[in-house]
Amino acid sequence: MKENKDVWVFIEQHDNKIQDVSLELLGKARELATELNSAVAALLLGDKLTELSKTVSTYGAEKIYIVDDAELALYRTLPYAKAASMVIQKYTPEIVLFGASYVGRDLAPRVASILKTGLTADCTDLQIGDYQYRQKTYEKILYQIRPAFGGNIIATIVTPEHRPQMATVRDGVMKMPLPQNSNHAAIFNEKVSFSKTDLALEILKQEIEKKKVDLKKAQIIVAGGYGVGNPANFKLIEDLADALGGQVAASRAAVDAGFIEKDFQVGQTGTTVRPRLYVAVGISGAVQHTAGMQESSKIIAINSDPAAPIFKIAHYGIVGDLNEIVPKMIDLFKQGGSTTKL
Ligand SMILES: Cc1cc2nc3c(=O)[nH]c(=O)nc-3n(C[C@H](O)[C@H](O)[C@H](O)COP(=O)(O)OP(=O)(O)OC[C@H]3O[C@@H](n4cnc5c(N)ncnc54)[C@H](O)[C@@H]3O)c2cc1C
Repeated sequence: MKENKDVWVFIEQHDNKIQDVSLELLGKARELATELNSAVAALLLGDKLTELSKTVSTYGAEKIYIVDDAELALYRTLPYAKAASMVIQKYTPEIVLFGASYVGRDLAPRVASILKTGLTADCTDLQIGDYQYRQKTYEKILYQIRPAFGGNIIATIVTPEHRPQMATVRDGVMKMPLPQNSNHAAIFNEKVSFSKTDLALEILKQEIEKKKVDLKKAQIIVAGGYGVGNPANFKLIEDLADALGGQVAASRAAVDAGFIEKDFQVGQTGTTVRPRLYVAVGISGAVQHTAGMQESSKIIAINSDPAAPIFKIAHYGIVGDLNEIVPKMIDLFKQGGSTTKL
């Protein structure tokens, strides 16, 4: 089979609802495919997928590879890995992207190992570029970019010799593209037969715990860090969020210290957010935190340490004790301050 240069996105769906991360990846795939002069394609696995393929098309997929099978109605590792790897092997795309969700983290390594290729998890950026190694130049390969060694370096990882080049990306890291008024994708219906071993796991009941908060949707976020000091003092962060009509969030150090639950964590291992306003209170600005909020339109940082790294990315910085500054801000906003100009 002739190799092609297409950029594929695995479309994750639950109960026939496409997950945001897959649509975000279609936007990134468009950029990569333009560099490669190739097409964006979607790999859609599940049951009764006709309506979903229309949505995928409006978000930029020019080709959609579909395995529509009742056995794929709910996610199970073995049948999904078999179906994905068989279709990928048949069409040999250049790049395959997965969301770094629970499903993507389970599925992508399986598929990479079946296809005997590399995989970089949790990329924060993807680019196309050349790579030179031992007098050989690999042209237009995928730069898989992510923090490494505890965030001390940003590593660019490549898969020069094996195909497809594969990466996972967390929800919210790539920008959601705008849907287009087009529905002209070429559809490829694929059949995969499953053995008894593939279907050995039977799902009797599925229960999904809802997240306590949808940070991605919040337009104003007030995030507290370890500098808040203790769980009781976190009330200050809640009060400021209330006064601004915003949503509370936190750094990982604040979560680890028990100030608030993990669902509220922003950053590399939390949620990636892009609100209109992000207020970072008592947060130092470690790269793992800023990776999840640096795309915010306006950032206000409050920190007692003038050398705190958060000030490097903040649009407005207030140096001082949060216990004095935050109550004053709450009073001001309660007296009629507004965030509309921010
Ligand atoms: C693999 C990996 C993944 C990670 N993922 C994440 C992630 O998703 N999100 C995340 O946030 N972190 C993450 N981290 C942790 C990250 O490296 C930092 O440790 C963490 O972000 C620090 O949180 P913090 O800024 O609240 O705490 P600190 O770094 O302890 O900073 C506290 C800040 O509060 C200030 N302060 C103290 N008292 C006051 C006061 N009274 N008034 C004003 N300011 C005050 C201090 O000057 C300091 O700057 C990760 C780390 C690793 C290794």
